Amino acid sequence: MSLKDFFRKFARKKTSTTEQFRENSADVTCDFVIIGSGFGGSVAAMRLAQKGYSVAVLEAGKRWKAEDFPKSNWDLRKYAWIPLLKCFGIQRISLLKEVMVLHGAGVGGGSLVYANTLMQPDSKVFDSWPKSVDWKAELEPKYVEAKKMLGVTTNPMMLEAEKALKVVSIKMKAEATFHPTEVGVYFGEAGKKAADPYFSGAGPERSGCTGCGGCLVGCRHNAKNTLDKNYLYFAEKWGTAIHPATTAVQIIPEEKGGYEVKTRSTTSWFKKKGRTFHAKNVVVSAGVLGTVDLLFKNKSVYNTLPNISDQLGNDVRTNGESLLGATGFDKNRDMSKGIAIGAAFHPDENTKIEAVKYPSGSNAMRTLSVPLTPDGTRLTRPLKMMFAVVKRFPKLVRVWFARDWAKQSVILLVMQKADQKMKLVMKKTGLLRRPKLAGAPSENPVPSYLPVAQKAAGALAEELKGEPQNVISEVLLGRPATAHILGGCMIGDDASKGVINTQHEVFNYPGLYVCDGSVTPSNLGVNPSLTITALAERFAAQFPAANDDLYKQRQITYTADKKPSPCGGKGACGSGCDGCGAKKDPAPTPPAPPAPPAP
Ligand SMILES: Cc1cc2nc3c(=O)[nH]c(=O)nc-3n(C[C@H](O)[C@H](O)[C@H](O)COP(=O)(O)OP(=O)(O)OC[C@H]3O[C@@H](n4cnc5c(N)ncnc54)[C@H](O)[C@@H]3O)c2cc1C
Ligand code: SF4
Repeated sequence: MSLKDFFRKFARKKTSTTEQFRENSADVTCDFVIIGSGFGGSVAAMRLAQKGYSVAVLEAGKRWKAEDFPKSNWDLRKYAWIPLLKCFGIQRISLLKEVMVLHGAGVGGGSLVYANTLMQPDSKVFDSWPKSVDWKAELEPKYVEAKKMLGVTTNPMMLEAEKALKVVSIKMKAEATFHPTEVGVYFGEAGKKAADPYFSGAGPERSGCTGCGGCLVGCRHNAKNTLDKNYLYFAEKWGTAIHPATTAVQIIPEEKGGYEVKTRSTTSWFKKKGRTFHAKNVVVSAGVLGTVDLLFKNKSVYNTLPNISDQLGNDVRTNGESLLGATGFDKNRDMSKGIAIGAAFHPDENTKIEAVKYPSGSNAMRTLSVPLTPDGTRLTRPLKMMFAVVKRFPKLVRVWFARDWAKQSVILLVMQKADQKMKLVMKKTGLLRRPKLAGAPSENPVPSYLPVAQKAAGALAEELKGEPQNVISEVLLGRPATAHILGGCMIGDDASKGVINTQHEVFNYPGLYVCDGSVTPSNLGVNPSLTITALAERFAAQFPAANDDLYKQRQITYTADKKPSPCGGKGACGSGCDGCGAKKDPAPTPPAPPAPPAP
């Protein structure tokens, strides 16, 4: 090889993240472009890369290392997502007409800011899903796989917040349903580094959970099983190129087949143009608000995908959610220790209540709380709130000025299976008449007042000897708040009934898929990320391997699946084991020599 060839090859290696990519400074060509790196996008990226496809992931948010997460949610630059103010943190809060949505941003999507809770819903929820698929049978093995990938285990820490929730469950006569949560956290020795505990040593190094309560501001201890520690880790290991701070803007069908995806830099001023990507297949996984917004703009603003079904934006659900809480006045009770959501109970068959905590010092969420207020209309409920402020003023002052609100408070996350819905629509708003996503009511609208939730908040305040609170959007604006928005890109038999078919392909656009929370066909009554992961596993399973040899090499061996070695891994039992589980059967014992003939 000439010196010139050598340098050319070297330069190519440096600019290209995978050998399979054709990439120059302007355009990238690959088999799959995935928009968004949350639960749907990460699973799709890893499984497609595992099968030998070239994959590029576009993520609007930033990439985070454990030590980069904010120490508290007052560090708005690192915590909040407000691009106008140059805040590119992990927590988005979108106040739309009809709903307030909490969602995530960054490489790993909602997993960076979420509360680690990974619960499998009751299989009865599938009864209302499209009948052409046996969801229970198809998803059950995918749940098993998803749990192993996300390292799901039972929370072992029953601390103050969990104890308080238990008392609430007793007060509401539902003690029998009280249980610790299933979570994606590594509970090794607290704060101690350990070799990969999940993937037989093939995954990244981890550290044991310290119970600092910081999960909702990003785990600084490398203990939370965020997607960059599992699905995205392997996706990148197998050649996937992740492009952070890259917002997908336009999806344009190409004449030769496939799509062009135009992007812009998320973090630069004046929406600087980003790279253009070309791919046979595009998977939109931008989370409900990201996906519905992107598809609406391409359908009716840029007119690049005009034939997307008019069902887009319909059947949006909030997981039947309400957010409330209580602040206690006993400064010696520290509610902020443990993992973000450690326990739950069911006050009735339809409802699940979880206790949520922020770490000590993370008091920013106090700004979203108002006194617990009885039901009313959009006019009378704010008036009732004013009345509550006057009536309970001295106690409220203690809440507003509590030195460490997070340490003294427990938030209740209430979820219901009831089938209430709303719509997302694209509306021209503001002076500039810019098209923006907005909520709109639908039949059976989502309530902003749940009597069972109010009762639980009252009981919690009693237990904490403190003051119960509602979330501001529910009381002042009549808009429910949710961290679990679902739907908007429904699965249907044809374009008159849904946006995508049962294989997640967008009607009228071959090779364009949707894979994230927006395809979930019902409320789940439990936290949704495990179900989104299982659905994404099912989606990715439909594609054949592009390279059989690579696919064989790229199989994952889960540590949890290994059988214990008979001799404790010392190789002394003679089983042929090399210390990583009993691999070979022991050599058969030779038959006993025949007994000598009797004299
Ligand atoms: C505070 C909080 C706590 C939560 N706790 C839990 C919990 O304990 N358990 C649970 O199951 N769920 C929890 N959730 C919900 C969970 O995070 C979401 O249900 C889940 O992340 C949704 O996954 P997804 O694949 O639909 O998309 P997401 O995870 O939301 O990912 C979408 C990604 O796409 C990116 N994106 C958007 N638009 C574009 C674009 N145009 N171009 C490029 N990228 C784009 C976004 O930045 C984001 O990173 C919580 C959510 C919040 C906000
Ligand atoms: S409690 Fe602290 S250490 Fe444990 S997962 Fe949450 S943030 Fe990480």
